[in-house]
Amino acid sequence: MVETITPTEASSAVEALHQLATVVLNEHTNDLGLCAVCGCAFPCERAALAEHNLTL
Ligand SMILES: [Zn+2]
Repeated sequence: MVETITPTEASSAVEALHQLATVVLNEHTNDLGLCAVCGCAFPCERAALAEHNLTL
């Protein structure tokens, strides 16, 4: 059995991904070169991933 998704489902999945990415980018901000949430060098892994998701 092959699972298919409708275009509507696909677009809402992309929309959810975009929304999540936006939230992540709003929280994981550049704080003097460090991520405000993770405390590691900015952009952190999650911010970079979110940015990548936004460009999809
Ligand atoms: Zn972070």
